[in-house]
Amino acid sequence: MNREGLDLLQQGAGELGLEITSQLAAFERLFELLQEGNTRLNLTALRTEEDIVLKHFVDSLTCLRGNYLEGALSVLDLGTGAGFPTFPLALVRPELHFTPVDSTRKKIDFVRETAAQLGLDQVAPLVGRAEALGREAEHREQYDRVVVRAVASLPVLAELALPLLRGGGLLVAQKGDITAEELNAGRRAAGEVGGKVQVVDPFELPILGDARTLIIIEKLKPTPSKYPRREGLPTAQPLF
Ligand code: SAM
Repeated sequence: MNREGLDLLQQGAGELGLEITSQLAAFERLFELLQEGNTRLNLTALRTEEDIVLKHFVDSLTCLRGNYLEGALSVLDLGTGAGFPTFPLALVRPELHFTPVDSTRKKIDFVRETAAQLGLDQVAPLVGRAEALGREAEHREQYDRVVVRAVASLPVLAELALPLLRGGGLLVAQKGDITAEELNAGRRAAGEVGGKVQVVDPFELPILGDARTLIIIEKLKPTPSKYPRREGLPTAQPLF
């Protein structure tokens, strides 16, 4: 990363109230690994330094708004892709334990190699679909938090994520500019799977000003055993 990229990262993080100094070298290494991975595996559409710094690194760090990710929590990152938001969060919050999950093996292979290169022992990647994990005793109702960025609409996310949360756990969903219709559908779906939308926090992405919304759904009671439905159904036929 050149000096401009590093400055953008520090400025963007600064606007979120985060100081990135000791982690700067690790972010540079992550940037290099992502560039290499992109050449080999075509992992992400974002290629320029500014895009990667602002739309991957800083954008992922916005999940820390509101302090819902503080302490030694177990965090499942649903649909992590090339490792977002897991990597930026793991670099600034080393006390969190991450399980980045994706259904695509090549992406999880990349996430595993990258976690090893960065020395992130608290990141344990997993190949799988949320629908399947949500029905396995090893994963159902086991996580303090599910984080998610750019995977599905809110009602779909509610059905995929709530079964994985323990009672009192939170889904931290980082989304773009959400419509009232999607939010309403998400509220109804959350109720159906044992949760409640507790926070809707609209904000602007640092420096670029793009619209974002952080949505927090709390798990209030156990998810009925019929959820999540079988693979593909939550997306093909959302609950609401
Ligand atoms: N979260 C990453 C980010 O913000 O850059 C990746 C977003 S990418 C658009 C969506 C990812 O979710 C894809 O890698 C896809 O394989 C994964 N995905 C979609 N549905 C899934 C499911 N039901 N279970 C596991 N992974 C899923």
